Amino acid sequence: MHKLSLHTIALSVATLCSSGLAIAQESAKVVDKPLTLTVHLHDKKFTYDSNWPVEKEAARLTGISLKDVTIGNTPDSNEAFNLMIASGNLPDIVGGKAVKRNLNRYGPEGAFIPLQDLIKEHAPNIYAQMQARPQVFNSAKAGDGNLYYVPYLTDGKYGRGYFMRTDWLDKLGLKVPQNIDELYTVLTAFRNEDPNGNGKKDEIPAFFRNWQEVLRLVTFWDGRTSGSDTYHDFHVKDGKIKHGYAGAGYKLGMKNIAKWYKEGLIDPEVFTRGSRAREFLLANDLGGFTHDWFASTASYNDSLKDKVKGFKLEAIIPPASISGVRMEEHRRIPIKPEGWGISYSNKHPIESIKYMDFWWSEEGRRLANFGIEGKQYNLVDGKAIFTKEFLENARPVNSQLTDIGAQVRRGFWQDYNYEIQWTNKFALEGIKLYDQGDYLVDQFLGVAFNEKEQATSDKYWSGIQTYMLEKQQSWVLATSDVDADWDNYLVQLDKLGFNKVLTAMQSAYDRQYGK
Ligand code: CA
Repeated sequence: MHKLSLHTIALSVATLCSSGLAIAQESAKVVDKPLTLTVHLHDKKFTYDSNWPVEKEAARLTGISLKDVTIGNTPDSNEAFNLMIASGNLPDIVGGKAVKRNLNRYGPEGAFIPLQDLIKEHAPNIYAQMQARPQVFNSAKAGDGNLYYVPYLTDGKYGRGYFMRTDWLDKLGLKVPQNIDELYTVLTAFRNEDPNGNGKKDEIPAFFRNWQEVLRLVTFWDGRTSGSDTYHDFHVKDGKIKHGYAGAGYKLGMKNIAKWYKEGLIDPEVFTRGSRAREFLLANDLGGFTHDWFASTASYNDSLKDKVKGFKLEAIIPPASISGVRMEEHRRIPIKPEGWGISYSNKHPIESIKYMDFWWSEEGRRLANFGIEGKQYNLVDGKAIFTKEFLENARPVNSQLTDIGAQVRRGFWQDYNYEIQWTNKFALEGIKLYDQGDYLVDQFLGVAFNEKEQATSDKYWSGIQTYMLEKQQSWVLATSDVDADWDNYLVQLDKLGFNKVLTAMQSAYDRQYGK
C-alpha cells in the first residue's frame, strides 16, 4: 500500500513535468468557473474600467473579472469613499487613492477584513514581499495591528536631486561646488557675473518649483525638513520621533536662508512664482540651481537644446554641510497610502486574495507595469521592453499606460524598469552619480494612531504646523529675525501642544515598529 502511493505520486509528478508548459499557462487561474467581483477604485485621474485591456487580460488569466461600481462623480477620492460608505453598499473590493486612511479607520470597526492571515495562507507572492520588507508592510497596518489593504509599493530609490547649469560654471571658470561655502561662492558668481551673457543682472541663482524646496537648504546647516516624501513631516533619529522645525540645525539654516534671500541668491518670488517656475526660469536662461525630480528636470536638456545656446543642466551630488555631511533628504517613498482591501460583505475572500496575489506574480506584475505583450512591449531576454511605436509617439508614457489600466493604483508592486526606459541620459547619469555615494537618509513611513493619539494629533497638529510655516516665511522674508524669535518660538510650540503631539507620535511609533 505504502509503495503504491509513492508510485502514484511519482507518476503524477512525471505527468506534471511533461505538461509543464500547459501548467505554466494555467498557473494564474484562481477559479475554474468565471467569477465577478465588484470594485470601487477611485483616483482623481480615473476610476476602474472593466474594459481596460489590462483588466481584461487579468480576467482571462485568473478567471476573475472586476465589475466597476466606483462612486466617482467627484475628483476627491476621500469624498468618493465617504459617499460609498454612506450608500450602505460595500463592494467586494475597495481601493484607490484614499485607502490607507479610510480602511485603517473602518477596518477596525468591522467594515473590512484583516488580510495578514489570508496573505500568509493564500498569497505567496505578496507574502514573500512581506517577509522581505517587514517595516514597509508594518507601516501599512492599522492601529489595531491588522493589515487591511494590499498596498501599492513603488520602485526606484531616487526622486529629487540637486541640478546646476554646468555650462554657466564653465563660462565663469568655476568648479562644481563640493561644500556649502563653495555653493555660496558659485551662487554669488551666478548673481554677479552675468553667466547668461545678456549684460543684465537678471539671473536667479537658486530657484524652486515647489517653494517648500527652499527649506531643504537647511540640510546644508545640518537641519531637517521632513523624514518622508511629504513636506514638513516628522523624522526619526535613533528611534526617536523628531520634527525638523524645532531643531538647532534648522535655526541656523533659516538664518542663512534669510541671508541668501536678502543677497539675491534665492528667487525673490520663491513663495509666489508657482509650479511653472522651473519651466519659465530655465527657458528664459535665468535659473542656475535647483532641487527637483531627476527625470523631468533632466528633460530640459532635450527640450531647450535649440532654444538656449549651450544649455547644460546637470545633477551634482549634494554639497557637504557645515559638518561635512552630504545629504539627499528626499527619496521615493517605498510604499504609498494606496492599494486595495476586501470588505466584510465579500463572499469570496480567498479567491479575492488569490486574485490580488496574481498582480504580484511575475506575469501579473508585468501586466500591471507594462501592459500587454506584443502591444505595448515585447519580451527580450525575459525582460519587458516597450516597443518603439509606444515610446516614440507624442503622448506621455504615463497617460498611455493608465489609459489601458497599467500603472493604476491597485495593490501592486511597481517595477522601476518601466520608467528607466524613457528616462533621458542626463537623468540616468545623475542617478548613477547619486548611487555612487550614500546620501539618502532613512525614511519615516508614518504611524497608525490609536484613538487617544489620534485625538491628540487632531486637536493640536494643524495649529502647530500653521504657526511653524508662518514663522518660517517671516524669517526668510526678514519680517522677523530667527535669532531674536527662537526662544519664544519654542515656548509657543509647547503651548500649542507640540510636545503632546510628539509623545503621541512616539507611543504610536514604538507600538508599530518596536522599541
Ligand atoms: Ca545676465
